[in-house]
Amino acid sequence: MSVFSSLTRIVQTAVEAESPAVQVNCIVDGIQQEMAVDVCSLYLRSERDELVLVASHGLDVRAVGKARLPAGRGLVGEVGASLHPVNVVEPAAHPAFELIPGSGEEQYHSFCAVPLVRRGAMIGVLAVQRLAPRAFSAEEEGFLVTLAAQLALVVANWDDWHLAADFSARTVTGLAGAPGIGVGAARLCEVPDLFSVSEQACASIDDELQSWRALLARVQAEVAAERDALDLGLSHEIAGIFNAYHMLLSDPVLTEGVAEGIRAGKSLPSALRATVQHFADLFLAMDDPYLRARHEDIRHLGNRLYASLLQSTDTKPLQTDGPVVLVGAHVSVSDIAAIPAEKLAGVVCFHGSLLSHTAVLASALGIPAVMAVGELKDVAEGETMLVDGHTGKVVLHPDALLCDEYERLRTDELAFNHQLAELRDAPAITRDGVRVELFANSGLTADIMPGLINGAEGLGLYRTEIPFMVRETFPSEDEQCALYSEVIAAYTDKPVYMRVLDVGSDKPLPYFPISEENPALGWRGIRFCLDNSPLLLTQIRAMLRAGVGHGNLNIILPMVSSFSELRDFHVLVTEAMAQLESEGVQTQRPRMGIMVEVPAAISQLPKWRELIDFVSIGSNDLSQYVLAVDRNNPRVAGRYDHLHPAVIAEIERIVSIAGQLQLPVSLCGELSSDPHAVILMVALGMRRLSMSAARLPLVKWLLRAMDTREAKRVYDEALGAADADAVRAITTTYLTRLEYPGVVH
Ligand code: PEP
Ligand code: MG
Repeated sequence: MSVFSSLTRIVQTAVEAESPAVQVNCIVDGIQQEMAVDVCSLYLRSERDELVLVASHGLDVRAVGKARLPAGRGLVGEVGASLHPVNVVEPAAHPAFELIPGSGEEQYHSFCAVPLVRRGAMIGVLAVQRLAPRAFSAEEEGFLVTLAAQLALVVANWDDWHLAADFSARTVTGLAGAPGIGVGAARLCEVPDLFSVSEQACASIDDELQSWRALLARVQAEVAAERDALDLGLSHEIAGIFNAYHMLLSDPVLTEGVAEGIRAGKSLPSALRATVQHFADLFLAMDDPYLRARHEDIRHLGNRLYASLLQSTDTKPLQTDGPVVLVGAHVSVSDIAAIPAEKLAGVVCFHGSLLSHTAVLASALGIPAVMAVGELKDVAEGETMLVDGHTGKVVLHPDALLCDEYERLRTDELAFNHQLAELRDAPAITRDGVRVELFANSGLTADIMPGLINGAEGLGLYRTEIPFMVRETFPSEDEQCALYSEVIAAYTDKPVYMRVLDVGSDKPLPYFPISEENPALGWRGIRFCLDNSPLLLTQIRAMLRAGVGHGNLNIILPMVSSFSELRDFHVLVTEAMAQLESEGVQTQRPRMGIMVEVPAAISQLPKWRELIDFVSIGSNDLSQYVLAVDRNNPRVAGRYDHLHPAVIAEIERIVSIAGQLQLPVSLCGELSSDPHAVILMVALGMRRLSMSAARLPLVKWLLRAMDTREAKRVYDEALGAADADAVRAITTTYLTRLEYPGVVH
C-alpha cells in the first residue's frame, strides 16, 4: 500500500463528493479498498453527543443511521471518549465491547478504531474490522490515524456531516445568509448551465457577433426592468447590486472577451462560457473574501445570459398564492426579482457564500436566506419549507406542529423588528442615563445609506481600500475625490472617519500583488502607504478636496506602530495642503488619528498625543496581534476570539490611557456589535461604537435595556474569567436576564 497516494486518493474523493451522504460513503468504500479490510465504518458525533453510524462498508446497511452509541459506551464510544485508538483481536472479549444489534458485527474477529478530532474536539470515530482474528499492524493503524487527521481537516463543512448523523431530523444546516424566519412553499430555481457547454465553432462570425450584441442589449434591458420591479425605496444597497450587474454587462473583459472568442471562430455559447469562466476565475483567485465572492455573481450572470440566449427565461407559473421559498443550486438576483417581495418567505441556496449578491440582496430586502446547504435532492416544488436565517437551518418536510411554531416565531420577529425600527431616532442611552454614540462602518457606496437609515450618528470607519480593490488600476485623484465627496456629502452634518488605504495581507490589490512569507506582519497599512508616498499624497489630496466646505472629515491611519509614521504622514498632509492652495483650493487641516491595532501603539500614545486628535480601536487586528493568531487562518480560527480576557484587558488599558490624555476613543472592529462585548465595552468606559449598519438596531436595543452599574458588575466578574468561553458564559447570563432578543453565540 503506497500510503501517500492512497491517502491522497481517499481525501480527494471526499473533498469532491457532492453531498455529505455521498461523501461518507466514498470514504468508507475508499478505505475498505485501500486497506483490504472487510468492514469500514464511520461514526459521527451527533448533537445529542452520541456516536451515530453514518456509513459502513460491510456492516448491515439497516444499521446505518440507527446504530447510536452514547459517549463512552462500546469500543467505538471508548475511542471517542479517550481519543486513543483501540486495536484488538477478538473484540467481543474486550470488557468495553457492546454489540450493535442488527449490524452483523459478531462475525468479525479483529477491530481497529481511531478518533476524528477537529480543532481539539472529537467529531467521530473511524473503524475497520476483519473476519480473521489477525491484529492490525502498526503500519495499518498509523495509516488510519493519518487518514483520520487529514479527513477531519479537509472536509470544509463538517457541520453538514455532523447533522447528517441525525437522520431522524429533517434539518439541514448552511450559512446564515440573511436573518429572519420564513415559512413557505418551495419554488425550485433551475437555470441552464452555461458551464456544461462544450466547445463549438460558429457558422458565421458576423451573425454570431450580432447575436451577442443583441443578447447583451436584451439582458441589460431585463436587468433594468428587474431593478424597477423591486421596490427600491431608499435602498442604495439594492441599487448598488443592480449597478454592479450593469457594470459587469458593460465590462470590456466580458463584452470584448466574448467578441474576441467569436472572432476566433467560437460559437456564442462557447465564447461566453470561456470568457465568463476566465472572468470568474480572476475573482476566485483573490484572497479578499468580498472580492472572491464576486465570482458567484459573474457565474450567475453567465447563466443568466445563457438562459436568455436559449429563450428559457419564461418562468413556470407559481403553484401557490401563499409565500414561497426560492430553492436552488444558485438562486440569482433575477429569481428574487421575479417574485413580489411580499410573497418571498426565504431563499435557500445549495452553494454560495455570505458575501454573494444573493445573500446581500436578501438581507437588504429583509428576506431570510441560508446559503451553502449542499444539494437538496428530495425537495419537491410546492412543498413547505422552514427557513431560519439566524442560525442557517432549513427544515424540510416539517409537520404541522413545527410549521405553527415557526409561524409564531416569524410573527413575533416581525413585531420586534417594528419595535426596532421605531428606535431609529431614539438615542442609544442606558437605563441609568449613559449615552453611547453609534456609528456605521462602510466601504462601499452601497452600504452608506443603510447606516443612515438605521440611525448612525456618523461614519466611524470608511475603508477606502474596498473601492481600490474592486478596480483594475489605482483610481485617479478625481475618481477618488468623486467617491469621497459622495460619502462626505451623505453624512454632511455628521462626522466621517476615512481611513487611508489599508491594503496588504488579507486585503490585496488585484493589480499590485505582494507576495510575502508573513503578510500579517508585513507590508500593509501605513507601511505600504508611506513607502508609496505618491499614492498616499494623491489619496490625501482627494480626501482634502472632497472635504472642502463640509468640515466633517477625519483621517485615520491604519497599522501605526511608530512615531516616525505619524510624523511622515503629517509632512505629506502639509505638502498636500500647500499644493492644493497653490492650485487655488483652500482646504482645512483635517482631524487626524490612528487605529490602535498594533499592540506597540498602546504604551506609546502619550508620546504621540501631540500628533493625533483621536484613536479608534481596531479590535479585529488588535486581537490577532495580542493573541498571535492569524485572523484568516482556518486552522487556528478556534483560537481567534476577541472576547479573550487578554484582549479585553488591552482595550481597558487603551481607554484608560486615552482618558488620561483626553484623547477621544472609539471602537470599530467586530467587537462593537458583539452583544457580549457591548456590555463589557460600555462597562470599561467606551462611549462610541462603530459597526456595520445592519447591526445598529440590535446594539441600540441592548444599550437601552442595560444599566452600566450592572454591566460593571458583569465586567468585574468577566475580568476574573479564565478564558473567552468563561467570559461569554458570564455575559450570556446578563443577556438572558435582559431578555436580549438577538441570537447569542
Ligand atoms: C480592525 O482591525 O479591527 C479594523 C476595523 O480594521 P480591518 O478589519 O479593516 O482591518
Ligand atoms: Mg485592521
